[in-house]
Amino acid sequence: MSAPLIDKYRKMATFDWRKLKAAVEGEEHVRLKAEVVAKMKSEPVFQRDYRVLSREEHREVVHQRWKKIVEWGLFKDPYSDLENFHALTETLEAYDQGTSARLFLHGNVFGAAVKSMGTERHKELVQQIENNEIVGAFCLTEIGHGSNTAEIQTTATFDNGQLVFNTPDVGAIKCWAGNVCKSFLRKFSYTFCLISAHSATHVVVYAQLHVGGKNEGFHGFVIQVRCPKTFQTLPGITIGDMGSKPGCWQGVENGWIKFKNHRAPLSALLNKGCDITPDGKYVTSFKSASEKQSVSLGTLSVGRLGIIAKGMMACTFASTIAIRYSVARRQFGPEKGGK
Ligand SMILES: Cc1cc2nc3c(=O)[nH]c(=O)nc-3n(C[C@H](O)[C@H](O)[C@H](O)COP(=O)(O)OP(=O)(O)OC[C@H]3O[C@@H](n4cnc5c(N)ncnc54)[C@H](O)[C@@H]3O)c2cc1C
Repeated sequence: MSAPLIDKYRKMATFDWRKLKAAVEGEEHVRLKAEVVAKMKSEPVFQRDYRVLSREEHREVVHQRWKKIVEWGLFKDPYSDLENFHALTETLEAYDQGTSARLFLHGNVFGAAVKSMGTERHKELVQQIENNEIVGAFCLTEIGHGSNTAEIQTTATFDNGQLVFNTPDVGAIKCWAGNVCKSFLRKFSYTFCLISAHSATHVVVYAQLHVGGKNEGFHGFVIQVRCPKTFQTLPGITIGDMGSKPGCWQGVENGWIKFKNHRAPLSALLNKGCDITPDGKYVTSFKSASEKQSVSLGTLSVGRLGIIAKGMMACTFASTIAIRYSVARRQFGPEKGGK
């Protein structure tokens, strides 16, 4: 669209912005991003909707966009095809931070946690994650503990060859986990539930592991929380909504989750460097508690990098908007139409 006030300043540029962009980002990256933009432009579900959407509508839009991206085969294993992955996430982040957050939480936070803390026994699950056959969430934060992760209070107790998950008190309820809650709309109709349910079926959950009466400390587990067909929560699991959020994050299903005697198989333990024998013995190759903790929490680095990248993108947009506005906006001045 022609923008006379801005065009005047654009013409004053002494360089070609396309060449600068290619020099900074790399020609291949610019080309890949243009491909993603072209795909998005051709698809009605990516049309900009300027109405103020309700929380449920917003989540539905994010879900439809996510489904399209999965259908296009654009989102698989982020680490095996970094170039395409960066092109996709940067483009999405620029257009709809809600959809990019949803993908990121599943692939780079939940998926990365299973891969980095899991072993051979989690291979089939990793395949399902990469094929987007299941949807994942990451449940670390509790009402009583955020940054202070090692002190979280959720428990996983070995009992008769299984793990039993419990939330000992209100402060231990897992909160803020993205992709986890169940959208309101889907509660009412089973048919609608089948075609559009998009809440997490699985979560990575952090808990204090108790074996034989001893607390072995903070560990990561992967468990199924919902039936993938009906999206009903499994026994011993209650899930709720964190409520409305401003901006694009409204489309992300941040929820809370609490456990009451929820039983999961021993394979739920993400067992890199540690395990529980079927007869209930905790074994570990970690030499110290800090080594164990760095494996458990190392996966958070991926999320932190993602948050920095999100911040960079937001700054880029803020600068673009501010610069455009500063050349287009006219204020009082000595001459008519002054500056
Ligand atoms: C939109 C959104 C999405 C989220 N998604 C997820 C998710 O998917 N999964 C999940 O598990 N969690 C999620 N979270 C939770 C998020 O990870 C936590 O908010 C974060 O870990 C910080 O914890 P807190 O908010 O409880 O802050 P606190 O730990 O209570 O910290 C409060 C303030 O004190 C500062 N502070 C803390 N400790 C110290 C210290 N020792 N010295 C100095 N300053 C300190 C902090 O920097 C902060 O400014 C999400 C949160 C939001 C808002």
